[in-house]
Amino acid sequence: MFWDNYSETLDRFSLQKLQLELLRKTIRQAQHAPYYQTILSGAGITPESIRSLEDLRKIPFTTKDILRDHYPYGFLAVSRDDIVRMHSSSGTTGRPTVIFHTQHDIDEWSLLVARCMYMTGVRKSDVFQNMMGYGLFTGGIGFHYGAERLGAMVIPSGPGNTKRQIMLMREFETTVIHIIPSYALHLIKTLIEEGIDPKKELKLRIAYLGAEPHSEETRRRIEDALGVRAYNSYGLSEMNGPGVAFECTEQNGMHVWEDAYILEVIDPKTLEPVKDGEEGELVFTTLKREGMPILRYRSKDLAAVYPEPCPCGRTHRRITRIKGRTDDMLIVKGVNMYPVQIEKTLMSFPEVGSNFLIILDHKDYNDHMTIKVEVSSAMFTGDLKSLQNLRRTITERLRSEILITPDVQLVEPDSLPKSEGKAVRVIDNRHQWG
Ligand code: ADP
Ligand code: ZN
Repeated sequence: MFWDNYSETLDRFSLQKLQLELLRKTIRQAQHAPYYQTILSGAGITPESIRSLEDLRKIPFTTKDILRDHYPYGFLAVSRDDIVRMHSSSGTTGRPTVIFHTQHDIDEWSLLVARCMYMTGVRKSDVFQNMMGYGLFTGGIGFHYGAERLGAMVIPSGPGNTKRQIMLMREFETTVIHIIPSYALHLIKTLIEEGIDPKKELKLRIAYLGAEPHSEETRRRIEDALGVRAYNSYGLSEMNGPGVAFECTEQNGMHVWEDAYILEVIDPKTLEPVKDGEEGELVFTTLKREGMPILRYRSKDLAAVYPEPCPCGRTHRRITRIKGRTDDMLIVKGVNMYPVQIEKTLMSFPEVGSNFLIILDHKDYNDHMTIKVEVSSAMFTGDLKSLQNLRRTITERLRSEILITPDVQLVEPDSLPKSEGKAVRVIDNRHQWG
């Protein structure tokens, strides 16, 4: 083996000792970046002044807006000549942020992704079809390098062109895929339409699902349809991309690789730490990054840390599924909710197809929520009117989940707009004038 999983099972004391050592090194490196130079010297922080991990809290948070304000090179801690790659975030919530990597950074990142894949059972003999977007987005290239590092055969198919994906999976006997969950549902629909039984005709055994919030119901649906074990993969471009937190074969929470990142969970309002088991905003500090270290990055992603250690024996703490970002929260008729709650409810109905869309309007001084729901192509007879009972049951179940009554509209399979990247789940027309 070219790497061992020694650091995955370090006792907590040694892991924290390692974190402190790496944190000091990271601060020394960050002092070379124009932004941190000012911030750290202003707060009187030097590597020596950090005596325990608690001292991390003396450092101000970094936010996406701060990264944007110092675009493009304000966070660079090495000479531009030492940068070998740039990536950017998807720009889901505004102008994308850019991240720069040295060769060392790329190597470390690839190792983390390889570790995730190895942990879940991928070996050199596997054929890995990477249906995640390539390019500036980190999902595709991040996994690509990790899988090559592990020695698997990579098919860099990228997303879309579903019929070609199926052809590749068949002809090259793909065993592992990496895919956005909303696209996985579309892929399944296409397989059904083509009359292909994935369990009999394909060799798939593992699917990695990442890049967008999804529920346990969606995971089960993908597992059942494709005959795979599906693992949740979490990452963000500011922390490299994939390889930040990943499920082990217990499929019960994602291990955050704490030898590469320090995780804090804070209350987004008070900015104070929350207890294990309580939901809060994830805050990350890079521990291995040379080109662009980032300290205390507020991800806006909401999750909780599991209070108990994982039965798999790894000591790195686990986080729950991501509920969404703080700014994904919808307030409709004064009630707070997250789109993933709606996804979870819809995906528990076998009659529901692969796509849905939430539309919010404001009429007559009132909020209105319409949810368009595609019917599963396996059961669609061409007559939507005959599905009134289904519509009523879905409405009831949604009401008990989100506490308001949406107007559910069943629509034909494939009739809602699709995205090649992260699914667009919400159209909010409420704040438009005129
Ligand atoms: P952007 O922040 O512009 O969307 P990124 O490509 O960096 O760009 O996306 C990272 C974000 O994607 C995370 O902060 C998180 O909100 C979301 N994300 C990534 N993986 C998952 C996952 N497994 N579950 C839920 N959300 C995820
Ligand atoms: Zn585990």
